[in-house]
Parts: sequence; C-alpha cells; structure tokens
Amino acid sequence: MNLLRADLISPLDMFKIGIGPSSSHTVGPMVAALEFSKTLEEYAPLHNIIDASSEWRITVELYGSLSATGKGHATDGAICAGLTGLNPKEAYPDEVWRAKPDLEKQPFLIVGGKTRVACQPEVDIRFLGWTMDDAPLPHPNTMRFLLHQNDASIIRDVWLSVGGGFVERYDPVQGKRIPSSFQAKDECALPHPYNTAQEYVDQCSKNNLSPWQVVIANQAARGLKEKELRKRLDEILDTMDDCIARGLNTEGILPGGLNVKRRAKALYSKLEADSPLAWAHNDLRPSVYAMAVNEENAAGGKVVTAPTNGSSGLIPAVWRTLKESQNLSRETLQNGLIVASVIGALVKVHASISGAEVGCQGEVGTSCAMAAAGAVAMLGGSAMQLEQAAEIGIEHHLGMTCDPIMGLVQVPCIERNAMGAVKALNAAALSLASDGNHLISLDKALSVMKQTGLDMNEKYKETSTGGLALG
Ligand code: SF4
Repeated sequence: MNLLRADLISPLDMFKIGIGPSSSHTVGPMVAALEFSKTLEEYAPLHNIIDASSEWRITVELYGSLSATGKGHATDGAICAGLTGLNPKEAYPDEVWRAKPDLEKQPFLIVGGKTRVACQPEVDIRFLGWTMDDAPLPHPNTMRFLLHQNDASIIRDVWLSVGGGFVERYDPVQGKRIPSSFQAKDECALPHPYNTAQEYVDQCSKNNLSPWQVVIANQAARGLKEKELRKRLDEILDTMDDCIARGLNTEGILPGGLNVKRRAKALYSKLEADSPLAWAHNDLRPSVYAMAVNEENAAGGKVVTAPTNGSSGLIPAVWRTLKESQNLSRETLQNGLIVASVIGALVKVHASISGAEVGCQGEVGTSCAMAAAGAVAMLGGSAMQLEQAAEIGIEHHLGMTCDPIMGLVQVPCIERNAMGAVKALNAAALSLASDGNHLISLDKALSVMKQTGLDMNEKYKETSTGGLALG
C-alpha cells in the first residue's frame, strides 16, 4: 500500500536544496547515512564506558543501481559525508567531498562523544549485487547500514533511496516501507484533499481557487503557514538563480573521467555577442540556462532537486526564461513552483521520479511536466490547461531510458535537460492556446508511464549496462 498521498507532499519536499550529482545516488544516501548516524548516537551501549573494550565497526552495503552506478554518482563520498553528520541542505560542497578522504586518513567516527567506531570507506562501503540475503531487493536503490560489535552485527538499518532525495526506511520483517516525510500529523483533514490530477483540477474549479491556493490552504492545515512557505520558496529560487550564475561563469572539464567539457559559459557568450547563433537567440536561451545548472550538478555543486538532481536544470531554465521575457514577479515565480510541485507529487505517488525505477521518463519527463504546468499557472492559464500541459510533458517522454555513460550524470543528462526545457515551454504554449480539453488525461498518462517503467529492461534503468552507456 502506498502510504503517501499527493496532497501530503509539500512543495518543500519536491524542491530540496542539495548536492550534485544525483538526488537518488548522492542526496538520498547522504540523508540515509545522516539518519543512521543519529540512530548510532541514540544507541545506549555505545555510551557505556564498559563497552570501550569492544571493537565497533560500521559497514555500508549498496545494492542494485546504487552499486551499479554508485561510483560515478559519488555515492560513497555522500555516505561518508552523512555519517560524519553533514546535511545536504546546509553543507558546502567542499565539506561534503572532503569527508571521504578525511575518513580514509583517520578511519573512525566518534560516537556519543567517546566511542571510536571504525569505518574505512574503501573497505567498509561495499558495492554489492541485486539481491540482499538471497532475496530480491525491495527497491533498485537499496542500502544497508550495519553496526558491528566485534563479530556480531548489532544494528542493521535498511534504507531505500526512492528518487528526488526522498528516502524510506525499510522493515524487512514486515516488508513495510516508511516514507521519511510521512508522520502522524499528516493524518489531519485537509481542506482540499486530492490524490489524482482530476481531483486537483476539481478542487480548483469547485472552490473557485487558483491552483496554488489549493496547495497553500492544505499546507497551512498541516502547519506550514503561507508566509513561511513563500520565504522558503524564495530560498529555492535564489539557489536556482545562483546555480545558473555559477554555471554561466565556469569553464573547464567536468570530473569523473569522461572528459566532458563545460559548454554553458561559451554558449552564453555567443548568445550575448553578435554571433552566427543570433538567429536562435530566443530558442537557445533556456537550453543554455539548463546546461549551466546541470554542469554545476555534474561537478558536485549545490543544486535544487526539481524533482531530481539529474533533472535539476530544466525548471530553473524555464523560470529564468519566463522571468526575463514576461517580467514575472517574485510571487508569481513562487506560485509556479507550488503548482509544479503538485505535478511532481502526482508522478511520485502514481508512477515514479526515480530513474532506477522507470528510466529517465521519471526524471526529465517529470521535470518537463512540472515545468509546463508551472509555466501555464504563471502565465494565467486555468487548472485544466495546466493539467493538459503536464500531460503533454509526460506523454512526449514516455519510454525514455536512463543510460548515463560511466554512471556519471553528464551524458545524456546535461543536454537532456536543455531539450526538456524547450519541450516544457512548447507544452505550455500549446495548452495555453487551447481550452484545456484533450484526449489523454494526466492520470492516464501516469499509469502508462508506470507500466512502461515496469516493462523496461533493467539495463535501461540507471545501471549503465545498456544503450548510450555502452558507448
Ligand atoms: S539519463 Fe536521465 S534519469 Fe538517467 S541519470 Fe541522466 S538525467 Fe537521471
């Protein structure tokens, strides 16, 4: 049973400030490692001086796609950062990427202020296969954290990284997944409940509310007041803008060994100058903004999940393009993010935003749908029109595979965001030019997306064992 409903997922869950290059393989594992480090701090025997004679050790097991592409996605580095108490939102990229070499040099953590717990990343973080204890994995991105006392494993904590930086604790005995954002208070009655796209559209029309007001009222009922929500969305917008600015001002070769050259800065200079690209000026701008962000992501910089790191460039690019061309206010840009988050939440609940589960249709496809719906909302379209725009965004990414070369979030990911940004603007324009009536509903498209993901061969689901990844 899926415990999570779309109306319980806040815009701040969908848009999270984190660290590149991957939300599922970097941010999620870092969050899970941080949670495990908190569990250790609460583990009483570690605080008992009598146990000082014991030898304590942490090992981390990475399974499935986390194992297949974890090295390229810097999963081990992110886990070290989480184990040392760093949080992806607050930590600086330099601190995050220093954690693993530091732990190699001094291979232990101090828990409870005094107990040394050994952890040597190269030995204790293990890249394993597609079964855990001879059983199928509960999710393609499964990890297990173990605390050993001498030869016995005392704590065995299983976590799933389910895309977009979301993590779930897994109880292997009951076979139960517990979403980290699901809490008892979520059971409170919402003024405008919805769990499908149609229900969302109906809530807007029957209450005569704008698409963002529905979400604002629901979030307020859960304790997140509009003022606070907008303040935090402002932080998200600033982080997106900063990321574009850094990407447009940085050149060089991206890390990881593929020798991919950063292109956003040079392309942007050409756009600004009177160059042979001038004829494409308006079309190329969103692509260049998207590439700027995705190059920063690939370099392990600070980005916003939108809904994932792999797809983090598309929404900032569309927002920046519309802000510049339509002179949109800060509040309008926030409203767009709120609406985009609804679409992301619907995909998360009814299909997936994880490339390891459904391929890139779940990442860039979802981002395109979110951006298209947000753009329609920002430009004054109706709830029906934004539902149509989101459907177009999903429909034209159905079946798109995830086959990153060398497991790096570079090729095809960077250009894929550039293409997605242009498609999102097109989808918004198409729906704004119509009355919102259309043949295939977003709900239907999401069920097709889910089934397509289930039918997709594993080698096209973030394992780097097929397609472009084979060169
Ligand atoms: S191909 Fe798509 S889903 Fe796969 S890593 Fe790249 S952006 Fe993410």
